[in-house]
Amino acid sequence: VREAGGNSITSLSSASHKALHRKSLIEKRLLLALDQENLEVLYQPQYDLSREKIIGVEALVRWEDEEIGVVSPDELIPIAEETGLINDIGSFVIEKACNQAVEWSKKGLGLKVSINLSVREFRDKNMAKTIMNSLTNTGCPAHLIQIEITEKFALEAEAESNIIKQMKILANEGITFVLDDFGTGYASFRYMQLLPIEILKIDQTFIHSLMMSDKNQKLVNGIVQFGKSMNITVLAEGVETEEQLQQLKQFGCNYIQGFLISKPVNEKEIERLVK
Ligand code: C2E
Ligand code: CA
Ligand code: CA
Ligand code: CA
Repeated sequence: VREAGGNSITSLSSASHKALHRKSLIEKRLLLALDQENLEVLYQPQYDLSREKIIGVEALVRWEDEEIGVVSPDELIPIAEETGLINDIGSFVIEKACNQAVEWSKKGLGLKVSINLSVREFRDKNMAKTIMNSLTNTGCPAHLIQIEITEKFALEAEAESNIIKQMKILANEGITFVLDDFGTGYASFRYMQLLPIEILKIDQTFIHSLMMSDKNQKLVNGIVQFGKSMNITVLAEGVETEEQLQQLKQFGCNYIQGFLISKPVNEKEIERLVK
């Protein structure tokens, strides 16, 4: 027993050693990638169920490093947050999203572009200014940009008046806020009063299990009806089947997003999907 315990301690520390090594490698390569603009952005359509058309896209960062290979956002973002590089990723994605929104607008597509921003980025007192500058520099109208924040973000924002202040400045300019991952644990209806949220995004775990139980359907329907009563647009994320789409339509859900419509793709592919 002793030996087994000893072994597991050895392997644990070597595992955490490996994790540390990977983290510092990612940090080092990310610095370089940001410098050389080696990051990419893909776009996933957001589809309006009543108008039966794509009305916007979510910008999702992609990184394939020549040394480490593909690093998924789920690994990349937490490391970037820890090291502070998240602000540089944010600036890159914002600039890219604004340019793309303008380009699509010129082509008469009028797609809104959603950007994911973390709470750490909003702690920067110049966040609102940075975003407004990107809008000005690219000639992008504010109403074409949406910002997705998570429930965890909302929880922390509540205690930090600076964050709320920045959000309100941007909302007044015409930027829409989306509450992402809704229902995953931090939800408080209080945020709806406190923060300028216009769209609720039901977390994909609820959509994936939608057809599996009556309880799930009641829950999702409940969120949709709550949105209606609050005059908030409801978007269901992670829609993969026609069955889920029909069910959500029946509930009166406004928008959907997911592999059924399209996985995240490049800008050319979006134009092909919209036409
Ligand atoms: P998220 O904001 O909740 O984004 C949705 C994730 O679900 C994306 O993963 C998307 O590719 C995936 N997805 C979309 N539709 C479906 C579906 O039908 N089925 C399944 N199984 N998955 C679907 P992705 O791109 O790997 O991003 C993961 C997370 O990383 C995002 O979750 C977001 O929190 C974060 N992230 C991505 N890009 C950025 C960024 O530029 N900035 C920041 N701060 N975070 C980002
Ligand atoms: Ca999101
Ligand atoms: Ca989400
Ligand atoms: Ca997520």
